[in-house]
Amino acid sequence: MYLVGTLEIVFNRPLTSEENIVQYIAQLIEFLNNDYLKRGARDPKEAATIKNYRIDESKIVLEIETGVKVRLDEASLRIRNVLASNLGRKYRLGIRSLLLRNPKVIIDGRTDVSIRIPIVKNIIQNENSTVIELVDLDESDIKKPLFLRFLRLLEEKEQRLKWGGKAEHWSLLKSSGIKISSPINVDPNKVLEDIGWIKRMSIGQWLYTPPLTHLLNALKKLFIDEVLKPLGFEEAIFPKMYPLEVGIKTGHLKGVINSMIFASLPKSFNISEFEDLIDYIYVMDEVSPEDLQKYLKPPSYFLCFAQCEPFYWFFENEILDDESLPIKWYDHSGPSYRWESGGIHGIERVIEFHRIEVVWLGKPEQVIEIRNELLNKYEYFMDKVLDLEWRMAWVTPWYYEQTGITQKVEMDIDRPGTIDFEAWLPYRGPRDDNKNWLEIGNISIHGTKFTESFRIKHNRGEILWTGCSGFGSERWLIALLAQKGLNPENWPKKFFEYVSASPFPRSIRTVTYPKTNEGKELLNKIISAFRW
Ligand code: ATP
Ligand code: ZN
Ligand code: MG
Repeated sequence: MYLVGTLEIVFNRPLTSEENIVQYIAQLIEFLNNDYLKRGARDPKEAATIKNYRIDESKIVLEIETGVKVRLDEASLRIRNVLASNLGRKYRLGIRSLLLRNPKVIIDGRTDVSIRIPIVKNIIQNENSTVIELVDLDESDIKKPLFLRFLRLLEEKEQRLKWGGKAEHWSLLKSSGIKISSPINVDPNKVLEDIGWIKRMSIGQWLYTPPLTHLLNALKKLFIDEVLKPLGFEEAIFPKMYPLEVGIKTGHLKGVINSMIFASLPKSFNISEFEDLIDYIYVMDEVSPEDLQKYLKPPSYFLCFAQCEPFYWFFENEILDDESLPIKWYDHSGPSYRWESGGIHGIERVIEFHRIEVVWLGKPEQVIEIRNELLNKYEYFMDKVLDLEWRMAWVTPWYYEQTGITQKVEMDIDRPGTIDFEAWLPYRGPRDDNKNWLEIGNISIHGTKFTESFRIKHNRGEILWTGCSGFGSERWLIALLAQKGLNPENWPKKFFEYVSASPFPRSIRTVTYPKTNEGKELLNKIISAFRW
């Protein structure tokens, strides 16, 4: 990406009448080109260059070309400052105005960017490049974060293109090695549905009857007791529906808007205003979503997506001191919602899922230490407590990568990034094929991503970081059942202890449920092992 534009600097008097001014300006331009405009970029191509200039009465008109490190806006301001201070001192000249004419951004390849952005004038798609023509910008526009944000948007688009649609870079950190000698090739999702412990309400959404709820709760409690409580995490209850501004600050509205689910409020609280609709429903016994939409306001919330959003929101604009740090909480008070489009399978990839979200906030070294403690405990939990066949990988989402280093991703787990935990699902196929592994949880450290956007501060100006970790309850349970089966005798000791600590709930059996005779028979067989 490179940028070009014509900078016009208007002075309060004609320049041409001053003595030796032409040579003096030539010197200043030379200083700018050789030194000042090159500062802050290792590669001169990433810095700025004045390609041409002319003096025209009281104006200096400069043709500028810049890279991405010292960009057009920054270069314009540097040129302005050098000319203002030097010509001011020597000739008592003052700058009256600044105008950046015909600024253009030239990008390799084709990039689509919305023409709805106020500073975009026109977009020209060439064979191998895209030229984005911007409107003329005055000094206040140049200083605005709008221009900066626009350039950042373009850089991000270019970056995304380089990653070639790959969401993340994956590299193995550690694994349990082969643990399962005779795999069970049964999909637990299918069994659970056949025996009626779960019933699908709508796409990606299930009702868990008491037996399955019992298993999910036992597993969550085991995780809380074995991992979270010993590390000093405390439970909080987070909201599950968030105002749109929160999604702007977390970045989710920019990053994953295609998988978010939104909520709308009714247009009126006065039920008489719904009379037409109610009458229709009364007689026709149906409602069309299009019709309903007319009675609703545009969406003003999104449903819980990452589950840690309220944590950052809570500390927005707060000033923390050493005594209050680090903060270590977890929430499992309600579901998360994601539109997964076609990828739905059983209860392991659903639209409405349940998760224990673990969050922490502190100074960088605290955040890294907490992550490391969690990492150890997670490994102990997967390996010793649940005896799973597992692996963990360092995954770097593309947006954590700085410009230019996308090709050679260094692995430094103390940098912001994510560690994924995965379990092998034997029913899907052989362990050497990645698609047969399921991400069950992860741990991230975000650096200042959220403390910056939510302006979370330390009283002595120290840097604050955040971290979060998601324990997807359904996924851990499916992984466990896929590897260990549905016979409690084969379950890891601790899990069995938690499941058998209270009487096992009754399975639902009616005239018509479970749906098939095979399901009913299978249920009888399975629950005969659930007596204690
Ligand atoms: P995947 O790549 O499998 O879609 P993800 O990267 O989208 O996972 P995260 O955004 O990291 O997942 O969410 C954290 C945790 O939440 C996951 O490790 C998983 O346990 C759980 N999770 C995420 N999406 C779903 C879903 N659709 N159904 C059930 N659990 C989910
Ligand atoms: Zn999170
Ligand atoms: Mg996903």
